[in-house]
Amino acid sequence: MAVYADSSVLKHIPSWDGWEKVYSPSDQVPHSGIYKCTGCNKEITSNKGDKFPPQNHHQHGSNLSSIRWKIIIFTDTEGKY
Ligand SMILES: [Zn+2]
Repeated sequence: MAVYADSSVLKHIPSWDGWEKVYSPSDQVPHSGIYKCTGCNKEITSNKGDKFPPQNHHQHGSNLSSIRWKIIIFTDTEGKY
C-alpha cells in the first residue's frame, strides 16, 4: 500500500475517470504516478509516455491472475491541484 507523510499532501478526487482503467505490461503509461498490480498488489512508479514493465517484471503464482496495472495515485505534474 502506498504511504504518505500526512493528508495535506494528497487530494481525494473520486470522480476522476482514470481510476478504473487497467493496463497490460508494456502498454504506454497515460499518467505519471503510482500503479498497483491488480493480481498481487505490487506497486510501481511510472512516468507518462514510458512503457509499463514487461511481462517478466515479476512472477505470479498459478493462483493469481495476469499482471494488470491500475493507477492508485497520480502525480500533479502540472500543478493543477
Ligand atoms: Zn503482480
